[in-house]
Amino acid sequence: MSLVDWSTGKYAPWTSPTVLDLLPDLSDEEKRRLRLQGRLPEREEDIPRFAPPGPPHPVPCAGVTPGTDAAIILSVRHALHHYNARHPAGEFEAVKLLAEDGLHFRDEVWSHANFWARSRSSKKIKRFFAEVHYKAPPCPDPSSQAPFIATVETCTIIEEPLTLYRKSCAFCRGYLDILHPMDDSEFVCGRGNEEDWNVQEWFGMRFICRKGETFPFSY
Ligand SMILES: [Zn+2]
Repeated sequence: MSLVDWSTGKYAPWTSPTVLDLLPDLSDEEKRRLRLQGRLPEREEDIPRFAPPGPPHPVPCAGVTPGTDAAIILSVRHALHHYNARHPAGEFEAVKLLAEDGLHFRDEVWSHANFWARSRSSKKIKRFFAEVHYKAPPCPDPSSQAPFIATVETCTIIEEPLTLYRKSCAFCRGYLDILHPMDDSEFVCGRGNEEDWNVQEWFGMRFICRKGETFPFSY
């Protein structure tokens, strides 16, 4: 491995796209939302015309498409792969993770996420919601690298207007602002009334179970 690999080559640090990079392909409503969050100037004329100077965009890390947020998590990749397989004429590429929350439910790790993805045909960016969970491989053998088994319950576009959607569920923390499908039969964990669920923290990890079920640990 040469020094070039580290500075400009395949191991060079990757610059994630900023909101300004993505602005031309965001809807007016997403821009309004960014303004409300203080992430975009109120007045159009105050928006910088050019991205602030920085290091030249390096060659991305292996497996990262140019213009893509390197922080996009595995569950988003799994979710969008699932979506694209079912919509071959309307495929998207993930560009930026917006928020993600996760916890343990019935011996699996569950994740809810919002992310932006770009249409391969129109190049416009849409917001997605995804629910993915991971199960440990059977008979885990520490010497093997057997992957966790991913199940995508839902990967769906959050169509505008965004104000119609719930910002949390029984397990997602509200401040993360993760928009969930209006029809909560579209996801499994945390749907319905919050009173129907119990959430506990255990050694820094969060667990959820339905009322009447028991947690996989005892006090
Ligand atoms: Zn949620």
